[in-house]
Amino acid sequence: MHVDLESCNLSEPSSLLMTESQRSTGWKRSLAEAVRSSDELLRRLNLSGHELASTVAESPFPVLVPESYLNRMQKGDFGDPLLRQVLSLGAELVDTNGFLSDPVGDVAARKAPGLLQKYEGRALLIATGACAVHCRYCFRRHYAYSEEPKGLEQWQPALDQIASDASLEEIILSGGDPLLLSDSQLGQLVEAISSIEHIRRLRIHTRLPIVLPNRVTSELVKTLTSTRLAPVVVVHANHANELVQDCAAALQTLTRQVGPVLNQAVLLKGVNDSYEALAELSRRSVELGVVPYYLHQLDRVQGAAHFEVDVELGRKLISEMRRRLPGYLVPRYVAEIAGDSSKRPLMLGD
Ligand SMILES: *Cc1c(COP(=O)(O)O)cnc(C)c1O
Ligand code: SF4
Repeated sequence: MHVDLESCNLSEPSSLLMTESQRSTGWKRSLAEAVRSSDELLRRLNLSGHELASTVAESPFPVLVPESYLNRMQKGDFGDPLLRQVLSLGAELVDTNGFLSDPVGDVAARKAPGLLQKYEGRALLIATGACAVHCRYCFRRHYAYSEEPKGLEQWQPALDQIASDASLEEIILSGGDPLLLSDSQLGQLVEAISSIEHIRRLRIHTRLPIVLPNRVTSELVKTLTSTRLAPVVVVHANHANELVQDCAAALQTLTRQVGPVLNQAVLLKGVNDSYEALAELSRRSVELGVVPYYLHQLDRVQGAAHFEVDVELGRKLISEMRRRLPGYLVPRYVAEIAGDSSKRPLMLGD
């Protein structure tokens, strides 16, 4: 752990001097200023001369790391669990048998441009293909985002499809990261969804509160809470060291002002493949009001094989969590299997 929650600076003095409109677009500047090469990443962390620097390689899925996230890494530590999630290694370029470009069957689940439905009652809208961070293990790294809609009129076929299917009660905004839409684009989309009578809940799948916490503005809170839809926010953090400083403050804003916030993590070798790492992630989450939801087995996407943890080890870790922690600190350990009717539980008896 690098920073104690108690000692971190939750209300940055400089932010008090900003006007509302500067605050509501400051995240765009943070994104523009994000680190975009592994060389710079290593330099900033005093790792350029490290003996493992030669294992680093540029990739067609380029490095992207916002400053806020970088600030939570430990200088001089090549094995830092946050760094591992975002640093591109030569290992990504190795083709491994069984690791595919569309491991979760997204292409087959496409109901309209930008609309995926795999499960009953809920459908997932790819609001944008862009992300504020490039997670090296991401199962969407090969997805053809450029073919997905980028504005309200382009979402119309997806909205029409949702309106024509009364069995849907929840729409999940995903991506990419849906919170990279501007407040006005997001507002229009949420408004359009809320005008479809059978939809009750709006779920947002986002990593921005974790990697670009200044995206959580009062304007955003207003956008997510200003319709009749019940908002549910699902964030994605994999290690307790992510949940400090400005990120902790952003999560508390969401839990206090928006609605339920759940976390989904991915079980990743070298990041959180130990009891202590998973337990601390859960403890820290709940202390901020965020409930552990899923622990995902890694999707077998090309280029991510070096992150894979054996399911047997995953089961042991969850069993240990069940033995030593209250039930609400134990996430459901699941895999996404193409063609299944829900995420598949990996704990026997679940
Ligand atoms: C994971 C996923 C969901 C959400 O599943 P829950 O179990 O409801 O969290 C919904 N749609 C798609 C296409 C998904 O991949
Ligand atoms: S934020 Fe999510 S969608 Fe984007 S790269 Fe990371 S895991 Fe993938």
